Amino acid sequence: MMLLVVNSGSSSVKLAAFEGTQQRAQAQVDRIGSGGPPDHAEALALGVAQLAVPARQIRAAAHRVVHGGAELTRTCRITPAIEQTIAACATLAPLHNPPALAGIAAVARLWPGLPQYAAFDTAFHASNPDVATTYALPAAERARGVRRYGFHGLSYAAIVRNMQHCYPNGVPKRLLSFHLGNGASSCAIVDGHSVASSMGFSPLDGLTMGTRPGGLDPAVVLDLVARHGLEQTAQMLNRGSGLKALGGSNDIRALHAARTPEAEFAIAHFCYWAARHGASLCAAMGGVDAITFTGGIGENDGICRSNILNHLAFLGAVMDGDANARGEKALHAATSRVAVWIVPADEERQIAIETAAAMSREGQT
Ligand code: AMP
Repeated sequence: MMLLVVNSGSSSVKLAAFEGTQQRAQAQVDRIGSGGPPDHAEALALGVAQLAVPARQIRAAAHRVVHGGAELTRTCRITPAIEQTIAACATLAPLHNPPALAGIAAVARLWPGLPQYAAFDTAFHASNPDVATTYALPAAERARGVRRYGFHGLSYAAIVRNMQHCYPNGVPKRLLSFHLGNGASSCAIVDGHSVASSMGFSPLDGLTMGTRPGGLDPAVVLDLVARHGLEQTAQMLNRGSGLKALGGSNDIRALHAARTPEAEFAIAHFCYWAARHGASLCAAMGGVDAITFTGGIGENDGICRSNILNHLAFLGAVMDGDANARGEKALHAATSRVAVWIVPADEERQIAIETAAAMSREGQT
């Protein structure tokens, strides 16, 4: 029996079929609504056909959901009430939660009655202490859930799991983890648990990203809203900022190739702010024992890794330049006080593992 893992983006659907922890097939359908399939339901049907897994073998579907709010802190079966909570969080994650809901609806239409589960990118950070998650705002705002949540949690949970292969006797105590892709964040992990994240109330905060600006003085947002209105500002902050705004492209490979001063500045900005947030997260852990890189940039871009680690050299992290250039797993030099690793992103398997655990809790296995 298979589990169908569904990762719905605004214009794409990624599917993976898992048998236990083994991925048996994967498929991706892009350009939903812009030349490809008209909607998520059609995209899902196309993707499932690509997977070539007989429908009768699919036991359940599990969706990646970016924002679970304060309540949804572990992978769970989707009920109408859970779906409503996910919908209520959609204003906080406008790029991500609406497509996940579209994916859930599409599966329900394709296979009525199929058990569906949701795995949340916020859940891994539920262990953050109050001091890390609280904004110093009036009590009424805090009471309605205005706080830091943190994201990319499925990726970080997978990193902790996969780091165990590098350290069979126990993962380093204080782990600074960078997820560097189109969305980018960093996480402080102590004894395998998240204690702080660079992302906050929404996935907009923290590092410079492909199309999001990262941290801003809230007065900038007030100024932008006064000038452009709420909707246009939201669009600007979610889709029109970051590397794209600074360098002309959200694709870091295009920025490296362009070699213009703007593109080089965008890369420098990305690395500088990754390091600044990373160093702040080290303060939350009282130091650092290991650093990991994951995501499209973290796994593949040796120039960015080296630039970020140069900024963090004061922590005692020394990179082996040759290992970095070759993209090896272990990047630390023999003299480094801090271990440095590339750990490939493994979010889909994490969803499969967490869903299997949720199913067995419910006696569904
Ligand atoms: P993600 O969101 O994790 O898919 O990452 C997207 C980012 O990773 C984009 O900026 C890509 O340019 C970058 N990326 C993907 N593959 C590579 C590669 N082989 N070398 C450098 N950057 C890459």
